[in-house]
Amino acid sequence: MYLSNPFESKLQGEKASIFSIMSQMAGKHNALDLSQGFPNFKTDDHLKELVTKAMKTGHNQYAPMAGVLELRHEIVKKIEALYGKKYDGNTEVTVTHGATQTIYSAITAFVHKGDEVIVFKPAYDTYEPSIKLNGGIPVLIQLKGIDFSIDWQEVEEKITSKTRMIIINTPHNPSGTLLSESDMKKLESLLKNTDIILLSDEVYEHLIFDDNKHHSAVSFPGLAERAVVCASFGKTFHNTGWKTGYCVAPEELMREIRKVHQLTVFCVNHPMQQAYAEYLKIPENYLNLGKFYQQKRDRFLELIEGSKFKGKASAGTYFQLLDYSDITGENDVEFSHRLIKQYKIATIPVSVFNIDNKDNKQLRFCFAKTDETLVKAAEILNKIQ
Ligand code: PMP
Ligand code: GLN
Repeated sequence: MYLSNPFESKLQGEKASIFSIMSQMAGKHNALDLSQGFPNFKTDDHLKELVTKAMKTGHNQYAPMAGVLELRHEIVKKIEALYGKKYDGNTEVTVTHGATQTIYSAITAFVHKGDEVIVFKPAYDTYEPSIKLNGGIPVLIQLKGIDFSIDWQEVEEKITSKTRMIIINTPHNPSGTLLSESDMKKLESLLKNTDIILLSDEVYEHLIFDDNKHHSAVSFPGLAERAVVCASFGKTFHNTGWKTGYCVAPEELMREIRKVHQLTVFCVNHPMQQAYAEYLKIPENYLNLGKFYQQKRDRFLELIEGSKFKGKASAGTYFQLLDYSDITGENDVEFSHRLIKQYKIATIPVSVFNIDNKDNKQLRFCFAKTDETLVKAAEILNKIQ
């Protein structure tokens, strides 16, 4: 080390993301990859043509800081049609570099040193490091049972005068469960008369199955007045690599988020935004998504019916949790590594998202895959005794 005074890491103990680890291992061992959450089928050609058109017609310089105005207006229309609340496209919507950037920007904008942020576990892996990087203290609450439900009594007990933010995620990664209307109402009544900000991660809002409904924070006035809601076009339009999403929030919150947004990325890729503005004009492009992924979920579960993996069907997202305790007593990390090396199939061990990495013998499978991949995956899983 050339430094005479070694620096102190701001993220001590933080390891490489499980998504990079498993994807790299999958590549190295030539394994079928059902680990990191991304589709292995094509993005709609029409959307790609719209990007090409945007590039050819000259949208190749910086976009406006808060996003292409036409796109923000389409987002406003979509939210109003789906959830009945009208945001102001000028002041309350920002196009971001994916939900990851929204999460980081919102936490950075509002969490001061010593502030507490309630996080439900298992949790998506960027919440806690983003809180810590800002000097905040993650206050962890375990989701309970096979339904990963919230113990609202525990939430009430963990709210203190230092609680600055609560982060929720519905549909939930990695469990594939949803928050109910009654959950949202309980949260609304708990937050009433507090200054707590809600960060609502709704990146899988359109991936809802069976007769379930997505309960957005936007639909509950007592939540919407304090909520930053984040969405991801990557998840919705099968192009996670384009890393584009957006957030909505009341003007006074959005003003602060934009201060961080302009420092970190300033603005988001221009031709993609032009294309999304056109593409969002056709609601079928996102309204049919639930049905599309439900078929994949059903196909996957049907194909592995005879296997020793078991689990409750996912209610949303494109993930299925499966319990493997009938197969082995190995912990989930060891088992996931063996699955890659011996059986050539990659998954995500759920313990990495749990408090103290508790192992419940569960693996997460991404079923956003072609039928051919799902068939191959099932052939492998059915053989594991
Ligand atoms: N939140 C959750 C729950 C996720 O699963 C993901 C992964 N896509 C993100 C946020 C980040 O989304 P994006 O790729 O748009 O940054
Ligand atoms: N959201 C994706 C998942 O849960 C991964 C995103 C990432 O790799 N950061 O698998």
